[in-house]
Amino acid sequence: MSKSTSRRWVLNGLGALAALPLIPFRYATASSNPDVIIVGAGIAGITAARELAQKGISFTLLEARNRIGGRAYTESETFGVPYDHGCAWLHSADKNPLTPLVKGAGFKTLDEGDGDVWMYSDGAELDDDGYDAAKDAIEHLEDRVDNHDVEDDGDKSARSISPPGDKWSNLAHLIMGEYEAGIGTDRLSAEDFQSQIGTGEELMVPQGMAAGIFKALGPVPVTLNTVVKKVNWGGKTIMVETNNGGLTAKAVIITVPTDIIADGTIAFEPTLPSWKMAAYGNCPMGVLDKIVLQFEPSFNSLLDEANTTTAYIEHNGVWWDHLLRPFGLPLDVAFTGGEQSWVLAKQADPQAAAIDLALNALADAFGSEVKSMFKKGHFTNWGADPFARGAYAYAKVGKNKSREIIGKPVDDRLFFAGEACVTKWATQAPAAYLSGKKAAQNAADAVG
Ligand SMILES: Cc1cc2nc3c(=O)[nH]c(=O)nc-3n(C[C@H](O)[C@H](O)[C@H](O)COP(=O)(O)OP(=O)(O)OC[C@H]3O[C@@H](n4cnc5c(N)ncnc54)[C@H](O)[C@@H]3O)c2cc1C
Repeated sequence: MSKSTSRRWVLNGLGALAALPLIPFRYATASSNPDVIIVGAGIAGITAARELAQKGISFTLLEARNRIGGRAYTESETFGVPYDHGCAWLHSADKNPLTPLVKGAGFKTLDEGDGDVWMYSDGAELDDDGYDAAKDAIEHLEDRVDNHDVEDDGDKSARSISPPGDKWSNLAHLIMGEYEAGIGTDRLSAEDFQSQIGTGEELMVPQGMAAGIFKALGPVPVTLNTVVKKVNWGGKTIMVETNNGGLTAKAVIITVPTDIIADGTIAFEPTLPSWKMAAYGNCPMGVLDKIVLQFEPSFNSLLDEANTTTAYIEHNGVWWDHLLRPFGLPLDVAFTGGEQSWVLAKQADPQAAAIDLALNALADAFGSEVKSMFKKGHFTNWGADPFARGAYAYAKVGKNKSREIIGKPVDDRLFFAGEACVTKWATQAPAAYLSGKKAAQNAADAVG
C-alpha cells in the first residue's frame, strides 16, 4: 500500500516487465552454529545478512523456499521478459531508500506516473461525466480518510468514515481497499492510512525491481529448502529446529510474514511474550494479486496510444484494475485483491479461474477479438503461498501502533524485521530493507 493521491488516480501497485535478462545470483552454503541465525531470505533477511557480513559477525540465513526473495521475486521464464510477482514499484521514490540502491546497481527506472487512465463500463468507454464522477469519488474518499481526526474521534475504518453508495464510490473503495491495501475498506484503518508516506513519485523498474534490489545488496550465503519449525530460547544459547535438523546461535532475527508467527506455524519455546503475540495478531495479512496475460503483438494496436495505460473496467458489476502494455509490451497486468483473491485461491483450478476472469473483463471492454490474441497467463496467488500467506500485513482498526511493537526485540536475543513493522513504509519493500538493517545492528550489538 502506498499513500499517494496522484499515483492512485494514475496508476497503482503494478508489475514491472520488460525484455531484458535477469541478473544471475550465486549463493554458497552457510556454516552451522553461527552467532546469529536469520529466518527468511526476503529483502529483510538478505539486508540483515549483508549488514552482519559487513560487521564480520557470523550468521546462517535459513530460507524455506528453493529460491531467495520471498515476496520480492523477478523471473523471466514465464513470459520471456522480467516479471515481478511481488513488488514492482519504488513508491515515493524521491524518499525511498531503495531508489539509490536500484539505480546504483545499474537498473533503469521509469516514471510511468503520468500514464493515461482509461475507464470502461458495460462494454463502453465512459463519457466525460463518467470520468469526472469517478475521479471525484476517488479524491473524495481519500480526502475524507486523510482528514479524519484520529486523535479526537478515534481510529475508524475508511468505510465507516465514508460509506460507498453508487458505482463510482464502489470503485474508489476498491482502489483504496482491495487494490492498494489488500483488504476491504471496512478493515482499513484511517490511522494506518494516514501514517504512511506518499510523495506521489512513482518509479518502475523494467529489468525487475526485485532483481535490482538483490543485485544492489549483493550475494550472501543462504541455506535454501530449510523450513524453520521452532525457536527454543529458554537456555543460554538459542536452538532453532528445522526440517533439516537443529542449529544454535546467540541471537535470532525473524523476518517471516506476520501470520506465520501469529498462528504458531513457527513455535517459540517458551512462548513469546503476550505483548509481542498481540502485536503480530493485530497485523494480519491482506492479499493483492496480479493476473498477467500475454498476447500477440497485435494486442498493442487495440488502443490509440501504444503506451503503458491503466484501465478500470467494470465487468459484471465488479471494477477491475488493469495495467495495459507495461513498457509497450503486449501484456495486461490485472489486479485482484482482498476477498476476490481469497475466493480465487480456493477454486479447483485457481490459475484457470483467474485468467478466465481477467480475460473476460478485458474482452468486455475491448471486444472478444482479444481472446484470439491471448497466448498465456499467470495468477500470482499469494494467498495460497504457505510462506507468504498473502501480499502484506495491515494493521487492524485502532492497532496501528502494533507495527512498531512487532519490530521490538525480545530479551535482547530475538530480533524481528519485515515489511509489517516500519509504520511510515508499512507493507512496502523499503520497510523490509530498513527493518532488516536495524535488526542486524541490534543483533550485532547483542552478540558483539
Ligand atoms: C503482489 C504484490 C505487489 C507488491 N507491490 C509492491 C510495490 O510495488 N512496491 C513495494 O515497495 N512493495 C510491494 N509489495 C510488497 C513487498 O514485496 C514486500 O513488502 C517485501 O517483499 C517483503 O519483504 P520481507 O523480507 O519483509 O518478507 P518476505 O519477502 O516474505 O520474506 C520472508 C521470507 O521468509 C521465508 N519463510 C517463511 N516462512 C519460513 C519458515 N518457516 N522458515 C524459513 N523461511 C521462511 C519466506 O519464504 C520468505 O522468503 C508487493 C507485494 C505483493 C505480494
